[in-house]
Amino acid sequence: MTLTSQAPGTTRSSQVSADLISELTRIVGQGGVLVGADVTARNPGFFMDQIRAAAIVLPSTTQQVSQIMALCNAWSQPVVVQGGMSGWVKATETRSNEIALSMERMNKIEKVDPYNRTATIQAGVILETLQKHLEDFNLNFPLDLGGRGSCQLGGNAATNAGGIRVIRYGMMREQVLGLEAVLPDGQIVSSLNRMIKNNTGYDLKQLFIGSEGTLGVITRLVLRLREQPRSNNTAIVSLDGFDQVARLLRHMDGALGGQLSAFELIDNNFYRVNTADGRHQPPLSPDSPFYVIIEALGAHQERDTELFEGSLAQAVEDGLITDAIIAKSERDREGIWNIREDLEYIVKDFQPFYAFDVSLPVGDMEGYMSEVGNRLKAGWAEGSIAFLGHVGDGNLHIAIGAGSENERHDVEACVYEPLQNIGGSVSAEHGIGLEKKPWFSITRSSTERALMARLKQLLDPQNILNPGKIFEPGDFVKDT
Ligand SMILES: Cc1cc2nc3c(=O)[nH]c(=O)nc-3n(C[C@H](O)[C@H](O)[C@H](O)COP(=O)(O)OP(=O)(O)OC[C@H]3O[C@@H](n4cnc5c(N)ncnc54)[C@H](O)[C@@H]3O)c2cc1C
Repeated sequence: MTLTSQAPGTTRSSQVSADLISELTRIVGQGGVLVGADVTARNPGFFMDQIRAAAIVLPSTTQQVSQIMALCNAWSQPVVVQGGMSGWVKATETRSNEIALSMERMNKIEKVDPYNRTATIQAGVILETLQKHLEDFNLNFPLDLGGRGSCQLGGNAATNAGGIRVIRYGMMREQVLGLEAVLPDGQIVSSLNRMIKNNTGYDLKQLFIGSEGTLGVITRLVLRLREQPRSNNTAIVSLDGFDQVARLLRHMDGALGGQLSAFELIDNNFYRVNTADGRHQPPLSPDSPFYVIIEALGAHQERDTELFEGSLAQAVEDGLITDAIIAKSERDREGIWNIREDLEYIVKDFQPFYAFDVSLPVGDMEGYMSEVGNRLKAGWAEGSIAFLGHVGDGNLHIAIGAGSENERHDVEACVYEPLQNIGGSVSAEHGIGLEKKPWFSITRSSTERALMARLKQLLDPQNILNPGKIFEPGDFVKDT
């Protein structure tokens, strides 16, 4: 980092002023601003090699965030918000002239209201911390995903996170009742609604949810809670083809009467990677083209187990599944989920590793998977590909190991181009960040993109908040 004595209001520079750093320190106190080796030594998250920010600022309150943004706005200083750094699309990547705003000190669970079934929290609370805290109240926050131990609820809101329970409860957007955000100029928009119904004008919180830190810094949230499930039934089943996967989804959803809470696809390639010798114990033979993890959450263990087992037995009878293993203990359940959630081996085996997160109608999935596979093999005969994902939500994750890092665009084309004709999305739940920017127009029309650019321009006319993520504001205005 280079520090200069540039003054507020001067045009954006490649350097950060020492005066600005000392002003930031005045707001957050000693120890609240990191520079130099204290920045580069920090955990860069799962998918980046190093943080390159000029400084990291660690506010503890909304008022501090507001002062920081007002100051940075006056200095035209770019700011990148950092949550738990578990995102997959380089949305927290910082340049050396940018300041990172880390939310990690804003980690208070302020209030759990068991009657209204809401939790009011600061945005830096880790998802898993809230999930555990709620056990004492017999309540549940249903968003759940593999990054639960590091992602923050503010990051979940900023990315509109999905995960394994969307099929039953919806995405993060559906779990947020109220939201407080600080605008790029420092204004605080407090919209901490606690009701499920509130149709008074535009639902402003939704503007910030899924905006990947480009429109405002989310500082506090009011979350909708549910009752803690009192029964849990989990199974992994094998299937002979994708047609059976789609039919099984409908069968289980209908037969379980609203209890179906996860329906996760694993293809043969992914299953074999994670159940190879010395890795996870394979619960089923490794010869089926597809496996599905099914989870049902309910209210009465004995009654629900009977329903679950009966539904699976019917699926066997109807020729939908070839085999099934039902978890009989928490250990079994973890063992089944590890096969789906452990990404360590696939990242190791598939090199260079590319991860994709797309969505498309379930009826188009089989054709899409085969087209992507064919395109990949045509380009890289030795390439590896595996499909998994939240298939009940029309969401596929694709792992590819092929080519070299400088062939990234060609590998991405194999996955994204076939989505265009079927109206699929290049991002189901991870967002656009920097990684998917070149493919944004596959999913969003020029009119949609231009409107997004106008909203960005309205809220952040100086383009200081997470600049360059999702799109460049100037890119699309001209398209209309
Ligand atoms: C093993 C693993 C499994 C995963 N599984 C899933 C999954 O199933 N579903 C899914 O949706 N995601 C999944 N993810 C991705 C990731 O966990 C989510 O995208 C998560 O919501 C990101 O939260 P975060 O706090 O880590 O945000 P970060 O990665 O820190 O940031 C993500 C974006 O949000 C912005 N941001 C963060 N906090 C705020 C804030 N308070 N205000 C404004 N902007 C903010 C950042 O600027 C950035 O643009 C997984 C990740 C891992 C590592």
